[in-house]
Amino acid sequence: MSELAKIPFPEVARIVQSGKALVILPVGVVEEHGAHLPLGMDSFAAEVYAQAAAPHLKEAGYEVVVAPTVSYGVAWAAIDFPGTLSLEPETLKSMVVDIGRSLARHGLNRLVILNGHRDLSHMKALDEARGLLVGEKTAQALCVGFTSDAAVTAACFREGVRELSQSVRPDREGHGGEWETSLALYAFPESVNKEVIERLDPNFDYDVEAFQNETKDYSSLTNGRGYFGSPQSGSAETGRKIVAIRGRNIAQVILKAWGRSNRV
Ligand SMILES: [Zn+2]
Repeated sequence: MSELAKIPFPEVARIVQSGKALVILPVGVVEEHGAHLPLGMDSFAAEVYAQAAAPHLKEAGYEVVVAPTVSYGVAWAAIDFPGTLSLEPETLKSMVVDIGRSLARHGLNRLVILNGHRDLSHMKALDEARGLLVGEKTAQALCVGFTSDAAVTAACFREGVRELSQSVRPDREGHGGEWETSLALYAFPESVNKEVIERLDPNFDYDVEAFQNETKDYSSLTNGRGYFGSPQSGSAETGRKIVAIRGRNIAQVILKAWGRSNRV
């Protein structure tokens, strides 16, 4: 696996020449995730999943290139929390389309958009960017991770994971709860405020429908707490397992769509 921003141009030319290149573009956001997790949570998560998926794709014959993360996204639901930043959906869409076109200009025309942030208009913007790139025949493009297609999201994130829950209400775990806390404790523990976790009571009693459909903002849904579920149920061990499982899941979704590299 190569990171595009860390290699020189002749190396890119070599990868393109191989005919096996597959680019993963991680996408996240700058958004509150409770008092214990960093604002870059979803961007970091997308990067971790990209790294975890890469070996499986390599095994299937691809040369994986991870492009620099799009760290900004649409986050109007949490905009009242200090530090949360939001793009307009159109801005995000344009950014991804521009990146896809630039990659394709060099022959990097197999693009996986791996999104770590669940937000309806954010996911729609990414899907529209994908549709545009495919429609104009710029690139083969695929949305994975959190996507507008609920079945794809489930195949990437839920498959094989739910049974790992230590929470008394796994059905109420969401943004900033057990899963994201676990991932952060495993993959970037230095960015987790562990003392704060001890003081965070579970937040199970919220309007699930309003959360899922984004009809209410995060601040009013959580009484200003910013998380859904139980951060205390999270652990680095669970995080290690979900990264391995989701990395494999994501690779499987990609391979199901595109097959193995035909130039193996
Ligand atoms: Zn998140």
